[in-house]
Amino acid sequence: MGLQIDIGAIVANWKALAANAPGARAAAVVKADGYGLGADRVAPALYRAGARDFFVALAKEGRALRPHLPDDARINVLSGHMEGQDLTGLVPVLNSPEQFFRDRAMRPGQPFAIQLDSGMNRLGMEAAEWAQVRAEALAARPDFIMSHLACADEPDHPANAAQLAAFRAMTEGCDVPRSLAATGGILLGPDYHFDMVRPGVGLYGGMPFADAQQVVRLSLPVIQTRLVQPDEFVGYGATWTADAPRRIATVAAGYADGILRALSSSGASLYADGVACPIVGRVSMDLITADVTDLAGSPAHLDLICAEQPIDRVADYAGTIGYEILTALRQRYQRTYL
Ligand SMILES: *Cc1c(COP(=O)(O)O)cnc(C)c1O
Repeated sequence: MGLQIDIGAIVANWKALAANAPGARAAAVVKADGYGLGADRVAPALYRAGARDFFVALAKEGRALRPHLPDDARINVLSGHMEGQDLTGLVPVLNSPEQFFRDRAMRPGQPFAIQLDSGMNRLGMEAAEWAQVRAEALAARPDFIMSHLACADEPDHPANAAQLAAFRAMTEGCDVPRSLAATGGILLGPDYHFDMVRPGVGLYGGMPFADAQQVVRLSLPVIQTRLVQPDEFVGYGATWTADAPRRIATVAAGYADGILRALSSSGASLYADGVACPIVGRVSMDLITADVTDLAGSPAHLDLICAEQPIDRVADYAGTIGYEILTALRQRYQRTYL
């Protein structure tokens, strides 16, 4: 019952992604609390498997993770050095000349890394900004220089090659380890691997890593089951009406638990030991209703995420991506780690 997280599958996915980039060191991205699954459990398991480089989004996440990892694990902070932050024991990935000068003034001699913008226009120094700080930055020996791909989940997208060329041009002759690829970039092939790869979603069983082992199972308790007669409706807005006598199960979870309301009447199901029970009516704050007419008995629990309906299928029904399905699963569930 609750959220079941297969740590062994995460480790297997990390090893499989690392094997796809044999010339590079494999880091692990554990931002947003390990994509919602618990960075304090995921990161130490990957450390034991050999990972030494970890990425979080915020210094706050890095400080929370630091006590869970030995000192030789590097925790890189993607948002860099923002004003007033305590970066003790962390490695800020500096994203602008402003961050660079602030960090070097406040943390001289401490480790740092650099992010360059190769075309995504989200984070990192643009070519002109990099030119401004490059000599001083290289003299201070950054741990690595990185950039991030916008379209790596679409192998044929022309932005991939353009970003690769821009990254190469900006890092030519730097003699510092380089990193460009996240999960999607690893799968684009060796040109994209450089010295370190940064898989995130693929560790957790998400696309575009199609060969990923399934990591998450989300099992929800049934509160009650009722018979609904023809022409009776179910749920807010009366959006679903029975066409025949139907048995409806009500489970104790809803959009306050990160089960997106967009799953209402979307074709998504809850599963009872592999049997699909379509979600009927609207997903409400704490409750979901499903048609269990086809089941022999009354189930004690129903699965939203399982082998038959992995995160990316749930995401398709909700009109989003696996990343959002995962990170929406917040603290309310009882978690079991396998
Ligand atoms: C989130 C993120 C990653 C990991 O991306 P996935 O697509 O989840 O593998 C890597 N690098 C940066 C800069 C990121 O923001």
